[in-house]
Order: sequence, then structure tokens, then C-alpha cells
Amino acid sequence: MDDKSLHPESLMMSYGYSPSLSEGSIKCPIFQTSTFVFKNAMEGKNFFEIAYGIREQEKDEELGLIYSRLNNPNLEILENRLCLWDGAEEGAVFESGMSAITTTMLEVMSPGDLLLFSHPVYGGTDHFIHNYLKKLNIESVGFMANESKEDIIAKIEKTGRADKLTMIHIETPANPTNALIDIEMCAEIKAHFSTEEKPVILSVDNTYMGPLWQHPLKHGADLVLYSATKYIGGHSDVVAGACLGSKELMQRIKGLRTFLGGMTGPWTAWLLMRSVETLKVRMDQQAKNAVKVAEFLNEHPKVEKVYYLGNTAKFGTDADKEIIKRQFSSYGAMIAFDVKGGEKEAFQFLDSLRLIKLAVSLGGTESLA
Ligand SMILES: *Cc1c(COP(=O)(O)O)cnc(C)c1O
Repeated sequence: MDDKSLHPESLMMSYGYSPSLSEGSIKCPIFQTSTFVFKNAMEGKNFFEIAYGIREQEKDEELGLIYSRLNNPNLEILENRLCLWDGAEEGAVFESGMSAITTTMLEVMSPGDLLLFSHPVYGGTDHFIHNYLKKLNIESVGFMANESKEDIIAKIEKTGRADKLTMIHIETPANPTNALIDIEMCAEIKAHFSTEEKPVILSVDNTYMGPLWQHPLKHGADLVLYSATKYIGGHSDVVAGACLGSKELMQRIKGLRTFLGGMTGPWTAWLLMRSVETLKVRMDQQAKNAVKVAEFLNEHPKVEKVYYLGNTAKFGTDADKEIIKRQFSSYGAMIAFDVKGGEKEAFQFLDSLRLIKLAVSLGGTESLA
């Protein structure tokens, strides 16, 4: 069923898969194979020429299956399905969210380039920016949620390397503060520093809201990144990642993925195909439950402050309310809050939880603190 006019959640069971190619199997089998047999030597030659960009693909020529580091049916069907919610042309899945983020950054930037990023970003991303990228002589400039476009532009110009700005990477809402960044403002900053020879690439880590509740590509982002370990996987049993965007950019990123080797294996891709079938019902319910939890915390005498988008929508600044209205179709299912007192009181709360487990990660079927 390849009719894109249907809702993505209706297509998650069938899109891009033909039972007739797999003995009528209703579910896509796991293609647990490292390599694929060519019909003849010429076919092998043709596939490699296309895969490595040695020549242009002819009009009705398709890239065939070669080797599971380059392509595999489970990977490709999953990638095609993930593109539906975000309206992306092409996608790539990775063995972790970090692999998606680092492969993307390494493909987009070169030594000597400048990166602009929103602060706070996910700890692993932060570490990569401040340690590994620095080693490659890629400098970075961070900005906070409340900084204006003019301030950020001035900050970049002050580095004396504005002409080297190649990438803007943001996370909104931020993990764990739910701080909000305006994607369209970042697209304007991108336009300000882009030139014909060197377009600036805007990427959004959409793990906190996606792929259902925020669609960054529709607000001017070039790439959307996911830790598929979270909502997409949703059962706390796989680590995986994804990057989605235009065909042109994704060809580059998939090219580097082939050589860094961070693609998901067929089994992980198959598990994620199972997961996306229930993604909408899971996320809808998680958001509904979050409303109840936030209401409880809002009224609780031992809670100092609750950071939840439903609260920001009511009591936040006009700018934040505007971002919520424009960017999000839900208040999400993530809540942070300050317990009155200090570490002792906070730990007492955490150690008293019975149903909710203490663990990192999010978006799974169980609640975590
Ligand atoms: C978890 C997470 C990541 C990293 O993903 P992994 O799958 O753990 O590698 C990146 N960004 C955000 C916002 C995350 O929550």
C-alpha cells in the first residue's frame, strides 16, 4: 500500500513492502543476511557504480541489494516509513541516536568550520562537540533558548569566523528542561550566513517530540535527527537512531554511513518496524498520562516548580506560547520538576517510587524517573 494520501499511522503496517515478494508473508520477514546474490557479473558492476556514485542512475534503473552495510530490505522499508510523518524525501537509520548525530555532523562539517548549537543539548552531543569536533579544529558557539536572533548573529560575527559557519544544530524542547527554540528563527540565521557555494545546514534533534508532535522540516530545517531508542523504539529494548531530509543531503550522509559502518542491523530494523505500527497510539496515551501527572505535581505542596509544555502554554512568555502554537501538536510526555529542599529531599522522592523505575532514557512503555 503506497498511497501517501493516507495517514502515516495507517501506512505503518504496509508501506513499501510487497507480500508477493516474500511468499505472501503478511509481515516483512527479517532479512538476516550479510550479502545479496547478483544475477550476473554485470548486475554486480552496475549496482556498485550507482552505490558509489561512479555514474548517474539511469531513469528506470534501481539500486539493487548489495551488502547489508549498504542496504537491506528491513533498513530500507523502515527508512521509507519513517519519512512519512516528517514529510522527508529520504532517511537513514543508525545503530544509535549518537551514531546518527555524529555521522551527520562529520559529513556536513570539515576541519576549520564553525558550528552553532542550542544549549543545553543532549549530553552525548555536547561531549562530541566539545571534545571530538574540537580535535578536528571545528569550533562551536552555543546559544540559550531566550537569546534573540540579533544577539546570536552578533555572537557568530564576533568569532571572526562567520564565513566558516556550516551547521546549526538545535534541540527543542531541550532535554530535560523543556526549554524552547524557535526553528524558524534558526532558519533565518541559516539564511543570513548561507552563500551559494556554502549553504548552512540546519539540523534538529527531534527525539523529544517526534516524529508525531513536531515536524522540523516544515519549519525550515534541512535535517531531522532521532534517537530511535526513545519513542520510536518505544519498548526500551533497542538502541537505534535516524536522520531524515532531502535526497541530496541524505545521499551524502548515507555515503559516510557506509564507510563508518553505523547502520542498524536487520534485526534492529525489524524490531523498529514492529514499533512504528503502534507509535501513534503509544505516544497519544503517553501525552494523555503526562497531563494527569503534571496536574498532580502542579498542586503538590512539596513541589517547587514544574517544567511541562502544558504549563508553558498557560503561564509562559508570549514568545514561548507562540513557539508552542506553531511547532507542536501536543505538550508531549516529558516532565521535569524541582522538589522543595535539595538533594536529600529529591533523593527521598526518587527512592520512594514504586511503579516508576530510576533509569535514563524516555519514551518507552514504562515510566522512568
Ligand atoms: C537519547 C538521546 C540521544 C542519543 O541517542 P542514543 O540512541 O542513546 O544514542 C540524542 N538526543 C536526545 C535528545 C536523546 O534523548
